[in-house]
Amino acid sequence: MNIGNELLQELEELRSSHLHRTLRRVASEQAPRIIMDGRQCINLCSNNYLGLANHPALKEAAAAAVQKYGAGAGASRLVTGNMEIHEMLEKATSEFKGTEDALLFNTGYMANAGLIQSLAGDGDAIFSDELNHASIIDGCRLSRAQVFIYRHRDAEHLRSLILQSAVQGHYRRLVIITDGVFSMDGDIAPLTDLLNVADEYGAILLVDDAHATGVLGRSGRGSFEHFGTGSSPSLIQMGTYSKALGSFGAYVAGTSLLRDYLINRARAFIYTTALPPSVIAASMAALNVLKADGMLLARLRENMMMLRDGLTALGYNILQGETPIIPVFTGDIERTLLLSQRLFEAGICATAIRPPTVPEGRCRIRTTVTAGHSSEDIGQCIEVFSRVGRELRLI
Ligand SMILES: *Cc1c(COP(=O)(O)O)cnc(C)c1O
Repeated sequence: MNIGNELLQELEELRSSHLHRTLRRVASEQAPRIIMDGRQCINLCSNNYLGLANHPALKEAAAAAVQKYGAGAGASRLVTGNMEIHEMLEKATSEFKGTEDALLFNTGYMANAGLIQSLAGDGDAIFSDELNHASIIDGCRLSRAQVFIYRHRDAEHLRSLILQSAVQGHYRRLVIITDGVFSMDGDIAPLTDLLNVADEYGAILLVDDAHATGVLGRSGRGSFEHFGTGSSPSLIQMGTYSKALGSFGAYVAGTSLLRDYLINRARAFIYTTALPPSVIAASMAALNVLKADGMLLARLRENMMMLRDGLTALGYNILQGETPIIPVFTGDIERTLLLSQRLFEAGICATAIRPPTVPEGRCRIRTTVTAGHSSEDIGQCIEVFSRVGRELRLI
């Protein structure tokens, strides 16, 4: 058999179990209403929670940075790619996160890969929430540490696994890892409980705030602000500029010592070209807009409530919560795909989420709202969910 046939056969298997994925094409800017596959629709599944991706301040900052610094950074940070704006953004980020320092990574995926691989190795133990993001799972694999999976948001189960691991062997370092807001469920990790467990056993707690940055907390600073924990020496925060902040790239926020260590140890930091100036400038502008516009978070929360209440009133099985990620559970794969298709035909883009992104039997339409949606947008979505849901006998 040649390689072409083998790949084809694997894809055919995916197709026959409804797990084959294809790309859809957006021909407009990223806004509450987009043109996708030639059709105008309300975007009900982006992570652009604050609606900043097409904000004038971000566009202008990116354009100005291109004029001043050029299009690319030209090298990795450790060669000649470390430009003054990289360090300015790191400073702004550590202020935003209430930490001593911060270090940029090119993506959240790379931040997790680099961070986890640097912090844990052979002879260490990682304790990971069962619903953690794929980039955390891959980081754990890269690390070669022993990985223990604890039940979702279950600090007591985590504690029992730590005690069990102590009996099993002598691990040098213990690292607990959790999403701050879980990407597919939209629920929130019990940060205070996890920190207590970390402190009790001298473990490091690594929180992935990709979906919490710009969303959780009074001023959008993330999980630690939501729980009022302040910064703690055992807490390491990572997060991205690519979701609520509407730009691109990621950060790790912690001590200056950690920053120094990662610069020397994180392969995903060392062996890659620095982020381009336009991206850095857009991220900086996003932090400034978030600080200056007191209404952004209020609008996000209002829209969140409106969609949650609307879908709940219709009788959909949604996961209750306090974030803009609202999963609508739909049962099997075929029904989920059909609902997504019907919604699209009625002018709503809400993608079907299937295994392996979520566990078997937990298919869903993962809806999200942003601060940019108008109440008419959301009203229209609820109306369509009502009509299509009845047609498909989901409600
Ligand atoms: C999106 C996401 C990432 C990856 O961030 P990118 O910048 O898109 O690579 C990491 N962790 C979580 C929890 C995410 O949702």
